[in-house]
Amino acid sequence: MAQGAIFRLLILLTVASTSFSQSIIQTWPPKQALLASDGISGHRKIPNDLYCESWRFTVETNDAGIWTRVPARCVGYVKEYMTGDKYSADSEAVADDSLAYAKTVELSGDGKDAWIFDIDETLLSNVPYYTSHGFGSEISDEDSFDNWVDMAEAPAIPASLRLYKELEELGFTIILLTGRTEVQRKATELNLQNAGYSNWERLILRANSDHDKTATIYKSERRKQLEDEGYKIHGNSGDQWSDQMGFAVAKRSFKLPNPIYVIA
Ligand SMILES: [Mg+2]
Repeated sequence: MAQGAIFRLLILLTVASTSFSQSIIQTWPPKQALLASDGISGHRKIPNDLYCESWRFTVETNDAGIWTRVPARCVGYVKEYMTGDKYSADSEAVADDSLAYAKTVELSGDGKDAWIFDIDETLLSNVPYYTSHGFGSEISDEDSFDNWVDMAEAPAIPASLRLYKELEELGFTIILLTGRTEVQRKATELNLQNAGYSNWERLILRANSDHDKTATIYKSERRKQLEDEGYKIHGNSGDQWSDQMGFAVAKRSFKLPNPIYVIA
């Protein structure tokens, strides 16, 4: 009888162990759901969601460097990120960190305590444009984007509008530094006002002489000019690394999310 009980126990353990192994194996996605890697993570085969999370990480950290467009397999992921809750949650987190820092800054009160904002994907969102242009999966079309800018209909990024107004109340002098060109000044001012922004000290746009410069050089030169005028650049908000790198950099720079395009 004791031998029978041991035998039954062994059978039970064998069945349990087989089921347990299978349940572990089954947590990995079925083979047909796996797609080949086309860039990151070497040659590992990983599912799209995982691949695209990692792709976005490399883009936001600038590990990816200059890239031309969103990989085809990540268009759905980017659309969901930008139009769902994640993009606004990330933007709110950046605004919170920016504000926490801003509150620690001792302002001199001479009007030269500056905070610089970029415009596109920083103060204004071009998501309505990219919704009809493949969410960054298409090669950028300058004429088509310029037409969108002229319409002056880009909405504010709510977190940035909140930060902007709080910084203004704290006493910062707000300076806008954008890669948009002088010919877009009127449309840009109108769009900013329509979106709820006001009272900026200066709106700096690319002049003809800036045309051939990279964004990093153009923006660094303009920040240097501001410093030469006596401004102290305490903070700088932008969605591109080229908003923040180079020289005459701010004491603290804050990177907003942008998995749709990169500007050198
Ligand atoms: Mg931008």
